[in-house]
Amino acid sequence: MTSSSPASASPSTDPAAISDRLAVVRARIAEACRDVGRDPETVVLTAVSKTQPPEAIAAMRAAGQRVFGENRVREAQGRWAEGLYGRPGGAELELRLIGPLQTNKTEDAVALFDVIETLDREKLARTLAEAAAKRGRSPRLLIQVNTGAEPQKAGVLPDAAEALIATAQKTYGLTVEGLMCIPPADEPPEPHFRLLARLAEDNGLSVLSMGMSGDYETAIRCGATHVRVGTALFGERKPSETVSRP
Ligand SMILES: *Cc1c(COP(=O)(O)O)cnc(C)c1O
Repeated sequence: MTSSSPASASPSTDPAAISDRLAVVRARIAEACRDVGRDPETVVLTAVSKTQPPEAIAAMRAAGQRVFGENRVREAQGRWAEGLYGRPGGAELELRLIGPLQTNKTEDAVALFDVIETLDREKLARTLAEAAAKRGRSPRLLIQVNTGAEPQKAGVLPDAAEALIATAQKTYGLTVEGLMCIPPADEPPEPHFRLLARLAEDNGLSVLSMGMSGDYETAIRCGATHVRVGTALFGERKPSETVSRP
């Protein structure tokens, strides 16, 4: 008796659909790279797995995806630290924190993530340095820049980015490898991507995490080295989870 449909029938967890969407996104990344004469190998695709069910993540891994992004420390701990998928930081998996980090969760974040993209204030630089020393583990860091100076959004203001980069590196000995931004939802993203690229260049940083499902090709044409794609890979999230809030 087979009265219920298999779990794989759901669009967000069906392995064939996930594999197809991954292929489409990879092809579009390659095309955007060709447009501007870049090697597609210079762009890393981060699959944003926040709120996704374990079957969807397992299917994405089975399709060959190795870099994942999560925006909440607790949620990421639940699904990535329990050993179900193998420990991040192992040979073949990279886990990136792309959501705001509270100082009381810094130690947990340092223990779990390979890269933290959301360093945005001196106090967090200090606690990250302390946590790294305590845990003997130093995730690579990006500084999040609030390119649109939106009051509700995390990130250092563009004018203060240079000082924070210097403080993180010189005062706290942190390895800052680049910058990250989330442009305002209601504006064309390109000026924001260009601003972030210029800030990175001015400060000798090589990594640029910018571009999401709606604008990753534009971001690549502006120099993105890392694009963070959720919906275009996994399908729609629940409406309340579509926006990353501080
Ligand atoms: C959710 C999220 C993404 C992915 O957004 P999509 O539009 O679903 O691709 C990228 N970056 C951050 C910081 C996010 O919170």
